[in-house]
Amino acid sequence: MNLLEVQNLKVHFPVKHGLFSPDWSGEFVKAVDDVSFTIAPGDTLGLVGESGCGKTTLGRAIVRLVEPTAGKILFEGEDLTAMNGGQLRARRRKFQMIFQDPFGSLNPRMTIEDVIGEALDIHELADGKPARRARINELLGAVGLDAACAQRYPHEFSGGQRQRIGIARALAVEPKLIVCDEPVSALDVSVQAQIINLLQDLQQQHGLAYLFIAHDLAVVEHISRRVMVMYLGKIVELAEAKEVIRAPKHPYTQALISAIPEMDPDTKRKRIVLPGDVPSPIHPPTGCPFHPRCPIAEARCKIETPPLRELNPGHWTACHLAG
Ligand code: SF4
Repeated sequence: MNLLEVQNLKVHFPVKHGLFSPDWSGEFVKAVDDVSFTIAPGDTLGLVGESGCGKTTLGRAIVRLVEPTAGKILFEGEDLTAMNGGQLRARRRKFQMIFQDPFGSLNPRMTIEDVIGEALDIHELADGKPARRARINELLGAVGLDAACAQRYPHEFSGGQRQRIGIARALAVEPKLIVCDEPVSALDVSVQAQIINLLQDLQQQHGLAYLFIAHDLAVVEHISRRVMVMYLGKIVELAEAKEVIRAPKHPYTQALISAIPEMDPDTKRKRIVLPGDVPSPIHPPTGCPFHPRCPIAEARCKIETPPLRELNPGHWTACHLAG
């Protein structure tokens, strides 16, 4: 059975008339628009796309930090979208999220012991103070931090260390799925590698599944078995990570891959520079949402929306011309 099954998920935000007006303009931002995918236990699905493509909203909807407009989120076969507050709370520890800016998600007035201990307390996972402290020390050790860190405050740590603390807090409740929202984007390259290696080690030890969100395909490819590419709230390509890098089918994915620096200077990849920016998700283009920027668009691309088709086993693409 899949750990997570997302079916036709939509997250549409109503647009107000102006910054200070409470009135709805009658329009929506279609941040996530009819997205379906699965994640197996212990697996990693990478999610890439430019900023504003809806990937963070999708991640937040899965852990129920934002309310979906339509669709289902099945976690271990149970529909999270149909649950009331109490039912959801009982399951919440099984899916956690780590953020790009761990500093923003760590209360500056709490010691690290309290930050991690809070998660244990909410879910009643430590029986008494000695057990709580022992568990916190164990979690700090698991993410490569010294037990002495427990009495310090978030501002005393580097970005990489703060991300380790965020991971320890997520790990405290023994989740089965962690949504990793750009967890290394703000870190130096050398620190990025350390955090990715840590996430991979923890996955092996605890059988964790990840939805790993990033704008950098090179990072996502390294950690993911499969990769999903999003554009304007929709999935445009989904396949094994190696397949996406070796033989991308969608012109948008091809452009993203052309921007990855080559490891081998002899194999020169031609950079595909896309014109313009991602259009507004309030007024997405008709037909294929990528058509205003697509280098091979045809007349029908402006009219007909391409469905997500399985071109090869496990390789899905939403493009009329992909074959
Ligand atoms: Fe380009 Fe048309 Fe394919 Fe869209 S459907 S990606 S516009 S070729």
